[in-house]
This record gives sequence, C-alpha cells and structure tokens, in this order.
Amino acid sequence: MTLSQLDRFKKILEKKLIEMRPSLRARDAIAIVRSADMLDEIQLAAARELATRNLERDARVSHDVRAALDRIDQGCFGTCLNCEEEIGPRRLAAVPWAPLCIGCQEQSDNARRGGMEADDHRFADAA
Ligand SMILES: [Zn+2]
Repeated sequence: MTLSQLDRFKKILEKKLIEMRPSLRARDAIAIVRSADMLDEIQLAAARELATRNLERDARVSHDVRAALDRIDQGCFGTCLNCEEEIGPRRLAAVPWAPLCIGCQEQSDNARRGGMEADDHRFADAA
C-alpha cells in the first residue's frame, strides 16, 4: 500500500470516528423517564433496548476504527490480525477498519453464530 493510500484511509477513519460521536446523544435515550402508563413503559423499554444495542454496536465499531488508526501508525494497516495475510482492497474499501481478512472474518462470524451473540449479529445486519 502506498503512503497516499494510507493517508486516504487515515482520513476516512478519522472522519468515521467523528461521525460516531453523535451516538453520545443516544446515551440520554437510555435514561428515559418513567411513565405510569403500561403501554408507554413497554415502548420505552423497547426504545432503551434499541438505544443500548446501537450503543454497543457503535462502541465496537469505534473500537475497531481506533485500532485501525493505530495500525496505520504502526505500519501494519491492511494486514489480517489473525492470519497476517493482506486484507483484500475491496474489503478495505467497504470496511476500512476491518481487522480481519474476509476468510478469517467469516470463520469468526460462524463461531459467533453458534453462540449467544447470534441474535445480536442478525440485528446488527438488519439495522
Ligand atoms: Zn485472515
């Protein structure tokens, strides 16, 4: 990868990190006021659940984005953390903060699908 490519990825990642910040507002949604109305309670609980899931997903992505920026600084950006092969350029274009190559990512997804996070994964894809 050339320096100008790296620089472009760095800008994309830094922009992404800034974009993630509005999710701070979602934190307020979790501290939603109590209501005496039963139906409101249910809807508020659903809203809290959704806000919490979104926060968790955002937290995972911003963690990955920060790690990718670190890898740029360390000169190992674009290398799979698992098998140390190069991550495909199309994958990096789609998910610049991807820590794994597509093969390792699929393995990791399959492993997770068998576990408790299966529902969470489907949810994240649908959102
Ligand atoms: Zn790999």
